[in-house]
Amino acid sequence: MSDNDGKKTLGLRGGNRPGNVTQSFSHGRKKNVVVETKRKRVVVPKPGAAKTGGGSPKAGGDPNRRPAGISDAEMERRLKALQAAKAREAEDAAKREAEEKARAEARERRRLEAEAKEREQREAEERARKKAEDEERKKKEAEEVAKRAAAEAAAPKKEAAPQGRGAPTNKPAPQPTQRKADREREQRGGRGKGRDDGRRSGKLTLGQATGGENNRHRSMAAMKRKQERARQKAMGSAVEREKVVRDVQLPEAIMVSELANRMAERVADVVKELMKMGMMVTQNQTIDADTAELIIEEFGHKVVRVSDADVEDVISDVEDKDEELQSRPPVITIMGHVDHGKTSLLDAIRDAKVVSGEAGGITQHIGAYQVKTDDGVTLSFLDTPGHAAFTSMRSRGAQVTDIVVLVVAADDSVMPQTIEAINHAKAAEVPMIVAINKIDKPAADPNKVRAELLQHEVIVEAMSGEVQDVEVSAHTGQGLDELLESIALQAEILELKANPDRAAQGAVIEAQLDVGRGPVATVLVQKGTLRQGDIFVVGEQYGKVRALINDKGERVKEAGPSVPVEVLGLNGTPEAGDVLNVTETEAQAREIAEYRAQVAKDKRAAAGAATTLEQLMQKAKEDETVAELPILVKADVQGSAEAIVQAMEKIGNNEVRVRVLHSGVGAITETDVGLAEASGAPIMGFNVRANASARNTANQKGVEIRYYSVIYDLVDDVKAAASGLLSAEIRENFIGYANIKEVFKVTGVGKVAGCLVTEGVARRSAGVRLLRDNVVIHEGTLKTLKRFKDEVPEVQSGQECGMAFENYDDIRPNDVIEIFEREEVTRTLD
Ligand code: GDP
Repeated sequence: MSDNDGKKTLGLRGGNRPGNVTQSFSHGRKKNVVVETKRKRVVVPKPGAAKTGGGSPKAGGDPNRRPAGISDAEMERRLKALQAAKAREAEDAAKREAEEKARAEARERRRLEAEAKEREQREAEERARKKAEDEERKKKEAEEVAKRAAAEAAAPKKEAAPQGRGAPTNKPAPQPTQRKADREREQRGGRGKGRDDGRRSGKLTLGQATGGENNRHRSMAAMKRKQERARQKAMGSAVEREKVVRDVQLPEAIMVSELANRMAERVADVVKELMKMGMMVTQNQTIDADTAELIIEEFGHKVVRVSDADVEDVISDVEDKDEELQSRPPVITIMGHVDHGKTSLLDAIRDAKVVSGEAGGITQHIGAYQVKTDDGVTLSFLDTPGHAAFTSMRSRGAQVTDIVVLVVAADDSVMPQTIEAINHAKAAEVPMIVAINKIDKPAADPNKVRAELLQHEVIVEAMSGEVQDVEVSAHTGQGLDELLESIALQAEILELKANPDRAAQGAVIEAQLDVGRGPVATVLVQKGTLRQGDIFVVGEQYGKVRALINDKGERVKEAGPSVPVEVLGLNGTPEAGDVLNVTETEAQAREIAEYRAQVAKDKRAAAGAATTLEQLMQKAKEDETVAELPILVKADVQGSAEAIVQAMEKIGNNEVRVRVLHSGVGAITETDVGLAEASGAPIMGFNVRANASARNTANQKGVEIRYYSVIYDLVDDVKAAASGLLSAEIRENFIGYANIKEVFKVTGVGKVAGCLVTEGVARRSAGVRLLRDNVVIHEGTLKTLKRFKDEVPEVQSGQECGMAFENYDDIRPNDVIEIFEREEVTRTLD
């Protein structure tokens, strides 16, 4: 046939040139004849043919042009055969095509069925595993419930939720048949949709599970298929695409985008899936674990539930091996009584000018710096005089101090805060070095200080003890080198070591919200090396190190153990004492921070519930003697906040107390205003201001916000306010004295004393006391005050008068009458 085709072409070409007909014929080939015939058929309207052939459909009208020996009938037969053959050929091709298609489809079906089977098996296994895990989890939860009453609320929710949302446990049952039906339906549609649909292994939609499949689902599926086809095309291969089943770590709450990320699915798909479940959420919203679990199953992945606290596991402390440890500089805190020269000493050591402009004289900024001794030993000083920061950091689990330098002024003695400092150092088991300061002063008596320290079980070397003592002067610089040497020596004894080659861990020693730079934290690295670009979690905050700035204000790329650096790139302001940990991924850091924030929020809520105004009032009723002044404190840095809180705690006596409901760092927010309003408390802003919305709310709700930049002013104002809560004092003023000369008996009145006013004035309305031999034998009021016969309001000194007591008769000559008036005096706290 194909042979014929070839010649046919030739013949046709020949046929186009009538002159060639004979030539073609002269070759005398049979097949040529056929071609010739065809040509004739085709060229029916040829002038020659038209003349001779007339209307003959056979076109064989011209016997001259017909190949020799071929009759009309033969011609017709051949024509028919040709046509039949052509038809057959077309038919065959169609049939082959159909067969091919059917075979492919059958193949595909078989493959899909095998896949489905495999999937079913896998799912069954997964279900079994999940069930086991579920049981395990529930068991754990049950245990937790027993431990934590708070978990009680969560547990029933967990069980109820899946049933409410279309029972994922029922899902696998209708799945295979449902999918098969889908496939068949779609194949019948002739568009081969079932193929891709079937491939969505395990991706049973909620609609399918509940039998309520809808158009939206199909269009979504179609969209997915389209994407898939495009992707495959782009990949240029028909390689079998295996759905990757992932283990998805699922905490108790997860952000939608993070969920998508963990499943390696598109965020938009996840959001759509959630919408189908009736949850309108954006990618930045957080959903609960039960919902997330449904979604994960929907996408055919495996859920690995992690308990909330587990999120902290990624930063669990790894023990460093001995060979990894390298020596590190010691971290020193200077403690001592106020005005004994802590700040001066720190400044002298830093060899810098005295920090000026300290509002109110209380150190407001906490930092740290490093110095090098003449011998080249590096020492890290915490710029945090006083023990408040020391203890508050320690209470948060950040023990950063290796050595305490106890400052005692040589011209003073061991004072209350000196003793406190000794106790703190002892409690923290931190070695101490005594710096006897102000040795330049003429009144300096270091031995007196040493002897006094002895009483507090601090035996210095000069007293043949073990505690190093150095006489110094922050003013003249005397003994400073010796002090640094002592510290270096002590550090050597301590053999301080850390592994610099690990994920960094550090403690926040200061944190503040900087207008230009955002939240800034001074971190003292304790382990490992903190580098620019590191992702970290710190307390309830997290971030990525945008820049590191050392104590000299220089940008550095990294900071090793015992190095203090300012860290930029936080998402919020942490608190002093918060621990910083570098994590591998931002997701981990965020998750831990969110978990901690939640825990803290729960704690605050619990604490807040205990300090509502109602409860305060209730408490005040029960315990009427103590009045409380609630306040909120917001400060620019943690150090100031702590200093203020401490000062507040000291205000008051057994009648009135200041209660700091909340203290924090940063601007005054609406939340603060809300809390203040609920508790009827004013807000004290120290070097911070309220943001606009907080200001508006405060105006509306009548919450008082006061701004300060000097701690003492704040303290004074709070004292004044607390004083207002003191019940006014009744003060007595003596206004006069009178001596009783004689006693008369007057009928109808009783005993009347004839007196001489010796001092001041006797007043009718005043209070009186009867003194006999300087002992008060009666206190009361006057019934009558007479001058001669007349009743008078008052009688001046040197004059005689008659006085009678209300309800009292036992008066004798030579008794003394004391006349006094009471006045109400508003008291103040001192
Ligand atoms: P802090 O409250 O412990 O920080 O004490 P300061 O450092 O503020 O010092 C209190 C006062 O003592 C300041 O007036 C200092 O000038 C003074 N002072 C500190 N050290 C010395 C010293 O070595 N010699 C003398 N003469 N005065 C000192």
